[in-house]
Amino acid sequence: MSNKPEAPEKGKDFIRTIIDADNESDKYGGRVHTRFPPEPNGYLHIGHAKSICLNFGVARDYQGKCNLRFDDTNPVKEEVEYVDSIREDVSWLGFSWDANPFASDYFEKLYYIAELFIKMGKAYVDHQSADEIRENRGTLKEPGKNSPYRDRTVEENLDLFRKMRAGEMPDGECILRGKIDMAAPNVMLRDPALYRIKHADHHRTGDAWCIYPMYDFTHGLSDAIEGITHSICTLEFENNRPLYDWCVNTLMEGLKQPELFGENSSVYEELAALPGFNQRPYQYEFARLNITGTVLSKRKLIQLVKEGHVSGWDDPRMPTISGFRRRGFTPASIRDFCERIGVAKADSTVEYALLEACLREDLNARAPRYLGVMDPVKLIIENYPEDQVDEFTMPLHPEDESYGERVVPFSRELWIERADFMEEPPKKFFRLGPGREVRLRFAYYVTCTGYEKDENGRITEIRATYDPETKGGWSKDGRKVKGTLHWVSAAHGVKAEVRNYGNLFTCENPNAPEEGKTFVDYVNPDSLEVLDECWVEPALADMAPGTNFQFERTGYFCADARDHKPGGKLVFNRTATLRDTWAKMQKNMK
Ligand code: ATP
Ligand code: MG
Repeated sequence: MSNKPEAPEKGKDFIRTIIDADNESDKYGGRVHTRFPPEPNGYLHIGHAKSICLNFGVARDYQGKCNLRFDDTNPVKEEVEYVDSIREDVSWLGFSWDANPFASDYFEKLYYIAELFIKMGKAYVDHQSADEIRENRGTLKEPGKNSPYRDRTVEENLDLFRKMRAGEMPDGECILRGKIDMAAPNVMLRDPALYRIKHADHHRTGDAWCIYPMYDFTHGLSDAIEGITHSICTLEFENNRPLYDWCVNTLMEGLKQPELFGENSSVYEELAALPGFNQRPYQYEFARLNITGTVLSKRKLIQLVKEGHVSGWDDPRMPTISGFRRRGFTPASIRDFCERIGVAKADSTVEYALLEACLREDLNARAPRYLGVMDPVKLIIENYPEDQVDEFTMPLHPEDESYGERVVPFSRELWIERADFMEEPPKKFFRLGPGREVRLRFAYYVTCTGYEKDENGRITEIRATYDPETKGGWSKDGRKVKGTLHWVSAAHGVKAEVRNYGNLFTCENPNAPEEGKTFVDYVNPDSLEVLDECWVEPALADMAPGTNFQFERTGYFCADARDHKPGGKLVFNRTATLRDTWAKMQKNMK
C-alpha cells in the first residue's frame, strides 16, 4: 500500500496561520524549521502521532525542515530500544527527518552556555538542600525567598560549577540555578534549576558526564542550536514558555558579548554561525490528543507492559503506534485521523470510533477481499458429486480491477458460519434455515434439506442441495434469494487462528478512576478472544506478515507481524469490524 503523505487541502490551523504571518513579515527569511522531540523513555503512542503529523506536516507544506530530536537528558530512564522504535514509528507514518540529533549531542555546548550564563551573572550555584529550595520557592500566592547563595561572585560560581562537572561533588550537593526572580508570579521563573549532579551512566555519553542539564534549559537551547523557527509542543508547557524565552534570550544576549567566551572562542564561533543566531525560535502550544477508552501516557503504558496486562508495547490492544501497526492500522488512516481532528488550543477527547472510521475508509478502498469462516459448521451438499471440484475466479477487490483475481475451490463439503444457520429462523433472518434457499458467494444457490445435532443440541452438520443452473451465484430464471453466505471448501481450506480484540479498558475514561482505584483496575480481562478453529480459503496460506485484507462480511484483518508464518501457522488480527460505529454515532447526535 502507498505510504506517501499528501499535503491536505484544508482550512489553516492556528499554527499555519502564525507561520504565514511570519513569512509575511520575513521573520525568518522564509525559513520554516520544526522538530519532533520525544524523550526515548517509551514507545510512541497515537498522541505522539498527532504531534508528528503536525511538525512534519508543517515542514512538508512550507518546504521547510523537521528534525527528529531525541530529548535524552535523563540518563536513567532512556534506552536504545526506545530510540530504535521511535525511528521506526516515525518512518512508518511516512515521514522522513532532515536531521536526527540527540539533545546529548549538545552536552558540551550546553555546558559552555551554562558557563556563559554564569559569566553574565544570570546563573549561580545553590547549596541549599532540596527541601530548603522547595520551602523557599514560595507559593502561587506568596513570593519565594532568595537563596543565601544567590549573590556568589561569578568567579566562585564558575569554580563551583567546574567542580560539579569534574565529579568532585556527590549527587544532590548543589545545583546550578538561573538567576531570575524569586518573586515572579510564574513559579517557573523563581530561579529554576538548570543543571543537577547525577553520577549515572547515560545510554549515549556513558560516564562522560556527572552533571545533566534540566529540561527547560536543554529544550529551548537545543531549538536555538538547531535553528528551529517554530517550536510546537502541548499545552502543559504553556507555563514553561516564559522560561523557554528567558533561556533563549539570555543566550542571544550572551552571543553579543563574544569576550565572555574567553578561551572557548571556538564555542562562540560555532554558536554564532548557527542559523538560529538572531532568528530565535518561539514556542507554541496546542491541545494534547486524548482518545476515549484508553490511556495516552508513556508512564501508564510502561506499567501495562511491565505488569503483564498486555503482551508488550506492540500488543494490538495498545494505543501505541506499534500496537496500531500490528493490529493492522495503516499509516494513511492515522494521518487522516490526525488531519480530521485538527489542531486546537483547547483540550478535548476524541472518539476511538473516529479513528476506526478513518481506517475503514482507507481499507475499504485498499484491502483485498477473501473468504474465511470464523466459527465453522459443516455444510454438506448432497447432490454435489464427491469427486467434483469447481474453481471459481473471484475479484480481489469489488471496485478495483487492478487488484486482480484469485481462484477459490468449491467442493461437496463446505464450512459456513454457525451464525448463518437457524433451526427455527424468524422471518427477517435471510440466511439458512430448513427449507430455505440462499446464495453461496460467487458459487451456487443451495437449499437446506436437514441438519444434525449432538446430545447438547449443538448443530454438527447441515445438509443442502445445490442448483447446478445457478453457477457463479446467479439464477438464469431470475429467482431471487435474500441471503449470501461466505464459505470455505473443507477439502481445500486452511486452518487459521483469528484474534479478535475488544476494548483494553472497561470504561470510557480510565484516566479518571474512582476513589481508591487506579487505571489498572479497569483493564478488561476479556479484551482478547482467540478463535483457533477458523477455516480460510487457500489463497491466504502464503500471505506475508503485516498484510491487510478483508474477510467478507466479517471485518478487516491483518496477518500478524510476529506469529503468522506463511506456509505454516496462520494468525490473523482483527483490525476492525465492518460496522461503521462512527456514522451511527453521528446519526444519533443529530
Ligand atoms: P507522555 O506523557 O506520554 O510521556 P510526553 O509528552 O512526556 O508524553 P515526549 O516524548 O516528551 O512525551 O513527547 C514528544 C512530543 O510529543 C512532545 O512535543 C509532546 O508535547 C508530544 N505529545 C505527547 N503526548 C501527546 C498527545 N497526547 N497529543 C499530542 N502531542 C503529544
Ligand atoms: Mg515529556
